[in-house]
Amino acid sequence: MADIGVIGLSTMGGNLALNIERNKFKVAVYNRTYSRTENFMKQNGDKNIVSSEKLEGFVNLLSKPRKIIIMVVAGKPVDSVIEQLLNYLEKGDLIMDCGNSFFEDTERRAIMLEEKGIKFMGVGVSGGEEGALNGPSIMPGGSPEAWNDVKHILELISAKADDGRPCVDYIGPRGAGHYVKSVHNAIEYADMQLIAEAYDILRKVLKLQPQKIAQIFEDWNKGELDSYLIEITSKIFKKIDDKTQKPLVDIVLDKAAQKGTGKWTSQNALNLGAPIPAINSAVVERVISSMKEKRVIASKKLFSGVDEEKAKYSGSPEELIESVRKALYASKINAYAQGMELLLIASEEYKYNLNLGSIASLWRSGCIIRAKFLNLITQAYEEDPKLTNLLLYPYFTNKLKDNLADWRKVIQIAVGLGIPVPAFSSSLAYYDSYRSEFLPANLIQAQRDFFGAHTFKRLDADLNENFHAHWEDK
Ligand code: NDP
Repeated sequence: MADIGVIGLSTMGGNLALNIERNKFKVAVYNRTYSRTENFMKQNGDKNIVSSEKLEGFVNLLSKPRKIIIMVVAGKPVDSVIEQLLNYLEKGDLIMDCGNSFFEDTERRAIMLEEKGIKFMGVGVSGGEEGALNGPSIMPGGSPEAWNDVKHILELISAKADDGRPCVDYIGPRGAGHYVKSVHNAIEYADMQLIAEAYDILRKVLKLQPQKIAQIFEDWNKGELDSYLIEITSKIFKKIDDKTQKPLVDIVLDKAAQKGTGKWTSQNALNLGAPIPAINSAVVERVISSMKEKRVIASKKLFSGVDEEKAKYSGSPEELIESVRKALYASKINAYAQGMELLLIASEEYKYNLNLGSIASLWRSGCIIRAKFLNLITQAYEEDPKLTNLLLYPYFTNKLKDNLADWRKVIQIAVGLGIPVPAFSSSLAYYDSYRSEFLPANLIQAQRDFFGAHTFKRLDADLNENFHAHWEDK
């Protein structure tokens, strides 16, 4: 009998099945469209994998209590697979939805399946094709009993950090795993947008060619920016298009697609009252980028107001490259600080009891945002588990202090030349707002009281008291 089953044999499911099999488990596989199963079995016939054309046959291949991974398109397909499975499962069997499901769907499914006696886990898996095959970062949510049933498997198939710790740990109840995966993806959006803005500045201010930028990113990857995203970005700049013999990146259409996890996170953060401007701007920029046709028209009609001669950067290119690196790192610290604070707020709201140090630690390898930097975040929460915001961790506080002048300079240069840097600048605005004892919200409260008698509090009175003023002498 098979130890575990995988439903959905596209990129992620197929590779996850191979990863599990390589770790000495017998795997049963099933896919809605049988030809995909046949292809998979043709390529992997020599392995300890069994398959069935029918879902019932697949379920019967599994040892009891059954453990089943679902790796299909998020949304209705997951409900459909669960509904079909319920015809054949018994109490005590376990379903793990390992796709990018919306956490509220996972909450709903967890309640529905618990009532039927079926164990359920919503598991975030990150690392793309390569990670699924060789070791992803895994974020499992669900009941602790269900986690105990599969802990040994997930620990074996997960990525391992430099210190040998597996990049998987129990995240929390119900939708906690998918919630954290969604925030992971949203941080990934912000990280990618920040890197894109750094590239845009190097390209448009210094007029550097992709080959040169590749070298810069390679250098950056040797220092504190060392990360998977910086590494693949340097490789992207080196790729020459077979057809045109030009750098391929210059030929890729500038319309960014998205599957929803960034947007869900922004929507949810607004609901929770959590400020995540770097993530929001990354989502918004993908949306604006997708309006290519409108941008082409506007580019011919709207003015930049830039005096090219006056705004032209005339300093040393090396100095600006270093300033961009520092600005990127400072922005990145802020983007992660925002994402982690969102997790803190959500943990309280949804009673997830998240361990932020453990979460940062399991992102250190296997996933798309893996980076040397995550060791520092792990360390920050290990030293101070009650840390409210990463900006207040002394290492980051001081790092930001060192990078601030360059961060401001880079944003000024970009804004002066009309180059959009929404994630860089919204991160700086977040930083400046967060560190401000006084914000102009006093005026907003006054306006609200003026037109709507919404009342206000006074700096010199008890905060339980509300005041209303007659702002105009009649
Ligand atoms: P896709 O998201 O492209 O999903 C394809 C699979 O879903 C196929 O097996 C397909 O079956 C199945 N499917 C679609 N609709 C249904 C349905 N109604 N009933 C049953 N099966 C259905 O594949 P990926 O491998 O890329 O991703 C799987 C999941 O993992 C998704 O939730 C995705 O968001 C997530 N994920 C993907 C990552 C990536 O890098 N690709 C990274 C991390 C997570 P059929 O062959 O019959 O069409």
